Amino acid sequence: MDLPVFNSEHILAQRPAKHEVRPDRPYAWMIEPECDSNGILQQVVTLFLTGAECRFRCTMCDLWKHTLDIPTPPGALIEQINFALQDLGINWQAPADSGTTAIKLYNSSNFFDKRAVPLEDWIEIQRLTNYFETVIVENHPGLCGKRVYEFQHGLAGQLEIALGLETVHPQVLPWLNKQMTLPQYRATVEDLVAHDVRVRTFILVKPPFLNEQEGVFWAMESMRFAFECGVECCSMVPVRGGNGLMDRLQQDGDFTPPTVASLEQVLVAGLEMGVGRVFMDLWDSDQFLAPECCKQQRLSRLMEMNQTQQVQPEVQCDTCG
Ligand code: SF4
Ligand SMILES: [Zn+2]
Repeated sequence: MDLPVFNSEHILAQRPAKHEVRPDRPYAWMIEPECDSNGILQQVVTLFLTGAECRFRCTMCDLWKHTLDIPTPPGALIEQINFALQDLGINWQAPADSGTTAIKLYNSSNFFDKRAVPLEDWIEIQRLTNYFETVIVENHPGLCGKRVYEFQHGLAGQLEIALGLETVHPQVLPWLNKQMTLPQYRATVEDLVAHDVRVRTFILVKPPFLNEQEGVFWAMESMRFAFECGVECCSMVPVRGGNGLMDRLQQDGDFTPPTVASLEQVLVAGLEMGVGRVFMDLWDSDQFLAPECCKQQRLSRLMEMNQTQQVQPEVQCDTCG
């Protein structure tokens, strides 16, 4: 497979404008139901924090849209976490009183990049998350190591790192400009697990240049690899347009978003592996391709499978069969 080469400059040149964001507010915050590793549906606080843009330039990424052009100002994330918890009606000293047990601090970058999360904010972040059973942050495999364990040391709860594996496809992974190799990913996961850090991973469903079947196949291969490395949870991300470069590829016929049927197939396969949790990301589900006659039913099936971690009966549609 001969893929066009896009370096960071090409990728930047295609981008539309960023959204307007405030350094003292997360750009989204919510409580989401998520099945835990014991099969119990928990309520998870999810904060999309506004901070410095990620130093990497992955071709499929659109997270930069909600980031700052400057390093995250010290204190800004603390202000954001305080604001969101208050707005969600959560007492940081007793989150369980509001039925929440875990918190995701997603910062559209890497938590252990000090440009994104100032080191001087760590103690206050640890204090504000001290009463959650699980604290989940995202990070690039190249930025793990000692710093992760220093942060873990100051946490009362379980630290979980969300790492992007993206895909194990041998040509597409380097094309993504993720600047990560599979041996590096494996070594990182093994090291984190050996230090009692739990790992979840993001896997792309149908990156560019793959047809529908190949998209499903490589998503499954990627899950297998991730579980084999020691990952506890695979979060499957249907690839979407909207970041400039992906839209160009879509116009050129090199990318189409996956169909809902493919997403069902991937999620079923992941659940049937029976190794760990598997979720299908249903953000932007309006971009997913499916016949209108049963799209809603299929999305509901995906949601049900996410929440129960059990394979649900297939949708029977009289219209499209
Ligand atoms: S490492 Fe993550 S946040 Fe950074 S560009 Fe890649 S996908 Fe986006
Ligand atoms: Zn139908």
